[in-house]
Amino acid sequence: MQYISTRGTAPVLNFEEAMLSGLARDGGLYVPQTIPQLSAEAISAMEGQPYEEIAYRVMRPFVGEVFTDTEFREIIARAYAVFGHDARAPLKQLDQGHFLLELFHGPTLAFKDFAMQLIGQMFQTALGRKNERVTIVGATSGDTGSAAIEAFRGLSNVDVFIMYPHGRISEVQRRQMTTPGESNVHALAVDGDFDDCQARLKDMFNDFEFRDTVRLAGVNSINWGRVLAQVVYYFSAAVALGAPHRQISFTVPTGNFGDVFAGYIAKRMGLPIDKLVVATNQNDILHRCLSGQGYHKGETVPSISPSMDIQVSSNFERALFDAYDREAPAIVQLMDELKAGGFDVSQGAMQVLQSHYASGRASEEETSATITRALKHSGELLCPHSAIGVKVAEEQRVIGTPMVTLATAHPAKFPAAVEAASGVHPPLPARMADLYDRTERVTRVPNDLAALKDHIKGHI
Ligand SMILES: *Cc1c(COP(=O)(O)O)cnc(C)c1O
Repeated sequence: MQYISTRGTAPVLNFEEAMLSGLARDGGLYVPQTIPQLSAEAISAMEGQPYEEIAYRVMRPFVGEVFTDTEFREIIARAYAVFGHDARAPLKQLDQGHFLLELFHGPTLAFKDFAMQLIGQMFQTALGRKNERVTIVGATSGDTGSAAIEAFRGLSNVDVFIMYPHGRISEVQRRQMTTPGESNVHALAVDGDFDDCQARLKDMFNDFEFRDTVRLAGVNSINWGRVLAQVVYYFSAAVALGAPHRQISFTVPTGNFGDVFAGYIAKRMGLPIDKLVVATNQNDILHRCLSGQGYHKGETVPSISPSMDIQVSSNFERALFDAYDREAPAIVQLMDELKAGGFDVSQGAMQVLQSHYASGRASEEETSATITRALKHSGELLCPHSAIGVKVAEEQRVIGTPMVTLATAHPAKFPAAVEAASGVHPPLPARMADLYDRTERVTRVPNDLAALKDHIKGHI
């Protein structure tokens, strides 16, 4: 299996190279050259299988020769052994035909663990056998960073630096990043917002000298290995609800478009997905774009769903690449226009996008009201991100097609917003109940490329 860049001029890579490099050298994102197909029989045969077995069958064709069958099975087993629920991604019923896919039973209580735990084990296996060392730098709006630090802490072949926007993430998110004591993981509080962190990360990847000196590797949601890991739970959920013999719809609380793009890959592989609904908060650039209003940056407004406070949605480039019939020059042009503020999507590309994705948004008030309502009607305590999904899913549901809303984080990860809406304080699961007592370790850094590069060089 070969991987190509959305901007068309970076080298074609295999799975391991694409995973280790993250962003392509031409600034683009790696995508598989072809999408492997699973037959209806193969999908049907997943029914009743353990999550790890479904993961193996879904991901195996994308990995190629990079890992042996046995290696890959062991990687998957180690990745998910740390989860707090045997089903890994259990489904709950909210209402007639509406289901919640709980993706928050991993070690940092958000769906990012599904991808990051797997990436950690894949990096370890790939680098360990070559006896190589890399520096992982990441930008996070909260959940990616904690999942990365948790997945890589203590691994011998990586140093990890995570930039997060100072003062703009929840205390649980911060503590999950700042309390691990292993010397190979570093939390950096940047004076800026998430888009600043993401921009500095892109700058580092585009600085080839720095990139090569520190052997920079990326694990942000643009990393193909992460998208791939997220394809699996679309299969496990859909099969549990009757696929491939019926269509299933999904609603996905969306920020960087990685999670919902994984759903699109599942659909392209043959899973009968009816609607993929992109749910946004008040930072609704994706909802506006999918409604035909073009992709134009605004100011990021902080919300009670901080992991979705994003204007530049990095994985959307992958969706555009397919919508523009894989014409890399068209993507290069759009991304140039984006630097100057935004772009309009051509009519043909818009039709393709709208044939796969629907969209909706939830205001702050609607998000809180949904938390209150879900608790009353189903006993479910939702995190604000998941509540946005539930609200938008309720608007988009069609009788006869099961709707699955992805619950992207545990309510205890965002206790202030959840308590303000519902009056209920969501307790942390017992296995991490001492989080507030652990010692924190963090470095405050300016939003400045040179200062960040110096810090990283000085600490590897
Ligand atoms: C990261 C995250 C999202 C957004 O996911 P994307 O893949 O970036 O679209 C939504 N909710 C939570 C809790 C998250 O951590």
